[in-house]
This record gives sequence, C-alpha cells and structure tokens, in this order.
Amino acid sequence: PQADPAKGAAVKAADRAHVFHSWSAQELIDPLAVAGAEGAYFWDYDGNRYLDFTSGLVYTNIGYQHPKVVAAVQEQAGRMTTFAPAFAIDVRSEAARLIAERTPGDLDKIFFTNGGAEAVENAVRMARLHTGRPKIMSAYRSYHGATAAAINLTGDPRRWASDSGTAGVVHFWAPFLYRSPFYAETEAEECARALQHLEDTIAFENPNSIAAIVLETVPGTAGIMTPPPGYLAGVREICDRYGIVFVLDEVMAGFGRTGAWFAADHYDVVPDLLTFAKGVNSGYVPLGGVAISGAIAETFAKKPYPGGLTYSGHPLACAAAVSTLEVMAEERIVEHAAHIGEHVLGPGLRELAERHPSVGEVRGLGVFWALDLVRNRETREPLVPYNATGEANAPMAAFAAACKKSGLWPFVNMNRTHAVPACTVTEAEAKEGLAVLDEALSVADGFVVA
Ligand code: PLP
Repeated sequence: PQADPAKGAAVKAADRAHVFHSWSAQELIDPLAVAGAEGAYFWDYDGNRYLDFTSGLVYTNIGYQHPKVVAAVQEQAGRMTTFAPAFAIDVRSEAARLIAERTPGDLDKIFFTNGGAEAVENAVRMARLHTGRPKIMSAYRSYHGATAAAINLTGDPRRWASDSGTAGVVHFWAPFLYRSPFYAETEAEECARALQHLEDTIAFENPNSIAAIVLETVPGTAGIMTPPPGYLAGVREICDRYGIVFVLDEVMAGFGRTGAWFAADHYDVVPDLLTFAKGVNSGYVPLGGVAISGAIAETFAKKPYPGGLTYSGHPLACAAAVSTLEVMAEERIVEHAAHIGEHVLGPGLRELAERHPSVGEVRGLGVFWALDLVRNRETREPLVPYNATGEANAPMAAFAAACKKSGLWPFVNMNRTHAVPACTVTEAEAKEGLAVLDEALSVADGFVVA
C-alpha cells in the first residue's frame, strides 16, 4: 500500500477533534490512523504494516476483507439494505437457520441484536421472565458488555464506575488453577471446590431467588481460563437441580475462536441460552444475538416477549452472517483454527515460556491463547499489579511497544498478552507472530526479579 502521511495526519486531526473514544481519557490517547486491512494484517498511512494478533477486539475471525463476504454485503446493499424486524426476510431467516444448525442441543430459535451486550441484556430478561426470579449470578474475572445489566454482570474493574449495586447480580469465583481462589493444587480439586463454592453461594442467596447463572464458556478478556474438566457439566447439573437458567456467553469464544463452532462443544455442555456476536459475521456489520432453548422459547409462545430492537436481524448484518458461515464451512476455517492451536500456536507459545522467565503460564486452545506474565515464576506475582495504570503499568507498556516496533499489534490486558489472531491465520503468519513475541518477551524478562 502507498504511504500517505498527509492523509494520515488529517484523519488523526479530525479524530482528535471530534471522535469520543471508548474506555479512554480523551486527551491521553493517541489512536493510530489506519489506512487499510486485509487478512491477518492492517497498515497505517506511514507505510507500517502490522500482523494483527488481536483480531480487532477478538472478532475478525475470518480476517479482514474476505472477498466473498464483502461481495455478499455489497450484493445485499443493492437488493435490500434494510427492513423492519417484524417481517420475514430471506437473509434473516437463512442466518437464523444456519446459526441454529451450529448451536448445541435444542437452541433452535434466534433473537438478533446489534452486538454482545444487547445479547446479554436480552438473555437476562428472558431468564427473569422464564423463571419469575430476580437475581443473576456471574463470575469474577469476566466481561459481558457495557450496557446496564451486562456491565453489572461483568467481573472486572470496567464494572466499577457503572456498578448500580441494585442490579440483582451476585458474583462468585469460577475455577482458575494458576491463581486459584480455592488454594487448590490440581484441576480436580479446583473443579470440586469451585462447584462447592457456587452451590454454597446459591444456598445462602436463596435458590428460589436466582433466575440465571451467566458464564463465559472460556472467559476471554479476563484471561482465557479454560475450565477444568467437569466444571461446566457441574454447573449444568446445579442449574437443573434448582431450576436456574444456564446462560453461556460465547460472544468472544464462539464461531471458531476455540477451534470448534462453540467453546461449549469442547465441554459437551448445552446451556439454556447462548449469547453470541463478533465471529458470527466477523463484525463486518454489527450483529449479535441469543440462541434460545425449546423450553424458554415455549414461555414466549403464547405471550409476547417484551423486548425488541429497531435493527434486530438487520438484512446487511444477516447477509454478512450467511456469507461468513458459508465461507467458514467451505474453507474449513474452524478446523484450521484447531490445527493452528494444536500444532503451531500452542507448541510455539509453550516453547517461548520455556525460554522466557517472564512467562508464568500459557493457556488456551484454537486461536485463543493467553500468556500470564509474572515478575517471578515461583511467587507468580503478576508482571504489573491488578488494574495498574501509568508508571505501575510500565513493563506491559514496554512489552507492547516492542511488539509494535517489530510489526505485531498485541492484545494486552493487565499482566497478560493474548495471542488471538484471525482463525484464518496461516502457519507462516503465526510463526512470524511468535518470533516477534520472542523478541518482546525479552523486554518483559528485564522486569523479572529473582
Ligand atoms: N460478552 C463477552 C464475552 C465479550 O467478550 C464481549 C465483548 O468483548 C461482550 C459480551 C460485549 O459485546 P459488545 O462489545 O459487542 O457489546
């Protein structure tokens, strides 16, 4: 691509003057002006190209600008750009059919939203109306979105500024052996104690007051903590015993990210509601939704569902979903993500961990990996304190800067970096990313203390 620094400067100036950015102190940020993107890469106006190890916000599962999906969106725009949600529209029906075909169990009805947070909002509403109960339980170390119910469910510091304290949310600890809240030493111990803790929390809250338990199948931004064998099945059993709706949030983990259509497929568990967004159409047009079980759909068979959105099932977004799901099947993209995880990223990251004392743990699957960076491997003290900013966050900032200098755009959250490229990332691209991480981890190693 041709460099055009003058255009880049103009784009940046208008952004700085008028765009109000998410999660940011507006005067303390310096957004990169991006000129274009293709596949696993994007580039700026100064001639720098980056391998995107973030997939945007972990959503461009098929990479940028897949020609078939771009063509499908263009074709749909020419044919029927938009239409109201109360009507039956070909691409909306087909998107729902294709999604229902892939979701586990009897999650066969699809309520469309514009993104993940709205999916979570509606899952919560459905669970409350289905059970007639007020409370929702969710895990610490989680993210469920930035709207009212979703941010209250969220179990990380992004909740704090918006915490209403009245949302009827009860948080609990989910399993995470490396930083075990239960002083466990084995996965089996962690699993058993986490289930007991959940059961005890339910007992003390009053089981009859709890509408739903909401969990990310594999928590994403909070650290890609793959659950121990038996945990999700155990939660399923607890939900069944108390008549609690089990909601799995697959907004980040769904649609190929873990090397399966849904992360739930790895754990052989079927929730009552499953929320999705992001990978459903790789975010080419905003789309999310809730996949609904037969029993919950039945609750709204004869009485109206009291919720809706102007753009529910937007034809452009649905056309992008239909095309994305077709492309993913044709090109075996889910299988490819599993292969890259098993044979390239997994082994490659573990090999880096052997050589870099700043790597405390490597965990993940598919194209969904976290490196937990530490000051000391024995104590497992995080490389930066929880929720660190400014000077306290300097080691992670130095690590990220080293990645960018060598052409890799890293995902960084607290003391972790996540390797979350597109599901279509090639073996050569994944290895290129590993080589840059290798260099940048040497910078992190400089902060390790004996
Ligand atoms: N749930 C999970 C697991 C997510 O990772 C996210 C976003 O990162 C959301 C919900 C919120 O989705 P959105 O930003 O589309 O509202």
